[in-house]
Parts: sequence; C-alpha cells; structure tokens
Amino acid sequence: DKVGAGSLSVARHGACALPASTLSSLAARVRNRALAAAPRRAHRPRASFATVAKAEMESYDYDIFTIGGGSGGVRASRMSSQAGAKVALVELPYNAISSATQGGLGGTCVIRGCVPKKLLVYGSGFQSEFNDAVGFGWDHGGKMPAFSWERLIAAKTGEIERLNGIYGRILDNAGVEKFEGSGKVISPHEVEVLAADGTKKVYTAKTILLAPGGRAWYPSIPGADLGITSDEALALQTQPKRVVIIGGGYIAVEFACIYAGLGSEVKIMYRADLPLRGFDEEVRQTVATNLVGHGIEVLKGVSPKAITKNEDGSLTLEAMDGSKMEADEIMWATGRVPNTDRPDLGLKDVGVELDAKGAVVVNEYSQTTVPSIWAVGDVTNRVNLTPVALMEGMAFKDTVVLGKPTKPDYENIPSAVFTQPPVGTVGLTEAQAIAAGLTCDIYTSTFTPMKISLAGREEKAFMKLIVDVATDKVMGCHMVGPDSAEIMQGMGIALKCGATKKHFDSTVGVHPSSAEEFVTMREVTRRVGPAIAAPADTTPAAVAATAAKM
Ligand code: FAD
Repeated sequence: DKVGAGSLSVARHGACALPASTLSSLAARVRNRALAAAPRRAHRPRASFATVAKAEMESYDYDIFTIGGGSGGVRASRMSSQAGAKVALVELPYNAISSATQGGLGGTCVIRGCVPKKLLVYGSGFQSEFNDAVGFGWDHGGKMPAFSWERLIAAKTGEIERLNGIYGRILDNAGVEKFEGSGKVISPHEVEVLAADGTKKVYTAKTILLAPGGRAWYPSIPGADLGITSDEALALQTQPKRVVIIGGGYIAVEFACIYAGLGSEVKIMYRADLPLRGFDEEVRQTVATNLVGHGIEVLKGVSPKAITKNEDGSLTLEAMDGSKMEADEIMWATGRVPNTDRPDLGLKDVGVELDAKGAVVVNEYSQTTVPSIWAVGDVTNRVNLTPVALMEGMAFKDTVVLGKPTKPDYENIPSAVFTQPPVGTVGLTEAQAIAAGLTCDIYTSTFTPMKISLAGREEKAFMKLIVDVATDKVMGCHMVGPDSAEIMQGMGIALKCGATKKHFDSTVGVHPSSAEEFVTMREVTRRVGPAIAAPADTTPAAVAATAAKM
C-alpha cells in the first residue's frame, strides 16, 4: 500500500509531525475510489463521495478551505478538487490595485505582477526594435511611430480582466466552490468569510490552506505614501514624464527598463553598488551597464530621505546624501512582505507561528505549526515566484489529498529578470559555489548578438557556466542577452538532470543562435574555490599526448 507507506516514512523522518488524522482519511478516500488511476475529468461529481465515511463528511463543510485565489491557492485548490477532495476558496473582490479589501482571482501574478509586467515589457521593447530596423534597411525618416500609454494600459487591463474571468471558470470547472470576500482563520478548522456587504459566515474544513500572497513594502520616511508601488505603476492612467524608482531588486530594474523603453525619463536609486543582490556578480555588472546604455540614470549607494509634493503636482525626492530630484512619479520597489496582517488572517490567535517578517512558518511539506493548517506561496516567503507557488500547491495536493508526502524541490529553480535585454539564471552563482567549498572552473563569454550587429546598438550579451571540477557537473548557468529567459528553461532541465560539462560539450549547437555559445565554451576563464590547481589541459593535442603516455 504505497499511500500508507508514504505517510509512515514522513512520520519516521520526523521532518513534520504529520498527524495521521490529516493524511489518512483523505488518502483513504482516494485509495478507496482509486482516483489516482481514474481518467482526468474537469469536474468530479460529488456523488462519488458515497464511500467516504459518513461521520466525517458531516463533521466538516469542506475537506479543504483555501484563503487566497492567486497562483498557489488556485493551483492547489483545483488540483485537490480534481483529485477528489471537496474544496472551497475565498478571494477578495477584483481590483487592479490590491488593498485590505480588494484583490481578485488570479492574484498578484495575473493582475498586478508577471502578466501585466511582461505585457509592458513587450510594449517597451519596440522602441529599440524601431531603431534597430534602420540598420536592416528600414527607413522611418528618424520619426518614431506614435506611442499611446492610454491604449497600452487599456489593452493590458482588458487582458487581465479576461484572465481574471478564466481563473473563475477554471475553479468552477474543477468543482471548487468560490466565495468572494475576506477569509480569516478563527480556529484550526474554521474560516470566517466577510463578504463585501458586511455579512459574515463561518465554514468548517478538515484542512485550511493559506495562500494570501504578499504585497509591496516601503519604508516609513516622511511623504512615503506620495510614492506608488508596482500595483499602481502597472495601472497609471497617464504616463509619467519623469520617474524615480527606488530599489535594486528585479522589480526595480524591470520597471526602470519598461518606463525608459516607453519614453519616460528614468532614474533608479539603490543603496548597494550594483543592482540585483543575490544574482551572479558578473550578471549584476552587465545589467548595471545595460541600464546606463538604455539612458537610465543610475544612482548607486543612495537612500531616500523624504518625499514632498510640489505646487504643480510633481514630487521632490530628497536623498540621504542631500541631493534632490523632481519627478512625476516615485516608485517604491523596496521589497515585499507576506499578507498575514492585511487583512488580519487571525493566525497568531490560533497558534500559527509567524517569523519576524510576518511570514507563515512551515515545514518541508508546507504544514504550519497547527497541523490542520497549511500554507503555500509568497506568504511563506520561501522562493517568491509563481512557478514555485504552483509547485508548492501540487506538493500540497500530493501530500494531503493523495497521501503521498511530497516536498517541493527548491534546487535549480530557473528564473528570469525581464530587463532589456533580459537575464536568465539557474543554479549556483560563482559566490555561492565558492561559499559551498567547491572548486569550480568558470567559463564566460561576452559577445555582440547577431541581431544587433547590424543595428549598431551598444549592447553586449554575457554568458557564464560554473562547473564543479570534482564531478564535472554544471552547477550554475547565467545569461544576460536576447531570449535568455527562453534559453534558461532548457538549461534548467539540463541542470535538473545533473548535466556535466562533457554533456554540454557533446551537444550540437543550434546555429546561428546565441544559445549555441553555451555548448561551445571551451576555454576556462578562471578556476575558483579551494585547492586551486591549473585547469586541466583539454586541447586535442594535450589529450593525445596523455593518451600516448598510457
Ligand atoms: P498571490 O498571487 O499574491 O495571491 C494571493 C491572493 O490572496 C491575492 O489574490 C489576494 O487578493 C488574496 N488574499 C489575500 N488575503 C486574503 C484574504 N484574507 N481573504 C481572501 N483573499 C485574500 N513571479 C514570477 O515567477 N515571474 C515574474 O516575472 C514575476 N514578476 C512579478 C512582478 C511583480 C511586479 C510582482 C509584484 C510579482 C512578480 N512575481 C513574479 C511574483 C509572483 O507574482 C508571486 O510569486 C506569485 O503571485 C505568488 O503567488 P501566491 O499564490 O503566493 O500569492
């Protein structure tokens, strides 16, 4: 009995005190109805629950009650429902800008994150393309096509409203019961739903899943609330002529490129020397150079002190170093915090442990300190990306509904930063490889991508491989250049499979492409880490000489 064995092994490892009550009954239902083997159907009729122990069905309204209909909550709920659980989900009413009372199905990613951002990234890329076209024989007499911010924002809004509707239908088709309102945990098995009209209703559930995501954070300096966050930055009715972006993370650099590409005058201000803390150092340097190349003014080592409103409606930002700058919009991109207190989820009162940042503390299976309450996605502040929330949602379904304890796997998560050009990355940075005590060969390549060779654009692509000398395994793969996000998905599979440098070298390139550079890097740029020895001489002559000696 695989399900039983799986549950037992978790208990034995002690990684989480999965109470038998949490897993066994749902697992038993699935086992009884052999759902795992059943063909996929959009909606599983509740009548098939006839085999479920009657007493248990009567004791709870739902098997699972999910708070939050973003990436993690929707994925976990619909998959759990399709696997046989009776699932309900509560989400706040729709609005492009989030608040304590407004959100919308699809969550951050769909309404005010990945999707609208990428649409604006596409929109902002055309300026360079129009310029590049001249080098390829096109002539627009130096006159750019006119750009309408209003039209772009309206088109974006239409698309996210369409997706918001699709998310509702996905849940309906999967048989998940939807509630519109604000969810609050009032006991380990009870969720109170506060509807927009002020009515409150309490529902019981065997398992409560927390998936309320996160929201933008900014420091409480004087005038801070005169600034906007990424929510508003994606929904402004008029295009700001001058924008100051505060922060050096991926959201900050992406928005700097969006606004600059669409014609705004952009300044980006961050405390460190380079943007993108946590990314590979050479990637950070390349991005910093490219920001300047795109006409963005980079203010490094600077922090904000105060924001004031001017008579004409514009804003003045005063920095800690005494400098002042005027702008039409000032955007905070200074990080995000978990949504456990806006609105208050009632977690402390029921004993769910939160960390210092307010994130829900979970074990490796996403179970909180209250056994019947689980959490996935940004609210746990593990790796705050949509595909990670989806993975955690799937692991939740496997563990809780199917009774197959499954840990989300955080190794080799590929990711991208949608700057112009974008960054793609997977695996260890050079600094992480050194910190892990590995001796690594570093392969780097800087080149002019063919597409911009005729365009005369001042922009370089950068690629890097980090190879563990002891095992020949590729531990990290990084790129800044056209299509790097697309390329990195394939590299992610290679690293997940444990690809060695030999595998890379024996892979035939796709020609002509930038991607082929990853399989043609032969010269070691440097060797790093402990026990540094000279790189092995792998030239054909040296290999032949060694073979001759054997
Ligand atoms: P969310 O998607 O935030 O969903 C949580 C939902 O819960 C929300 O809809 C909220 O309204 C609702 N909610 C909260 N409290 C309650 C309550 N009490 N009752 C009812 N409902 C409630 N990730 C990527 O992978 N790639 C990207 O390119 C990318 N770009 C991003 C760009 C921006 C500007 C931002 C802000 C984020 C971006 N992300 C990106 C991150 C990604 O959006 C998140 O990691 C992802 O949305 C997390 O999913 P989640 O389910 O945890 O939370």
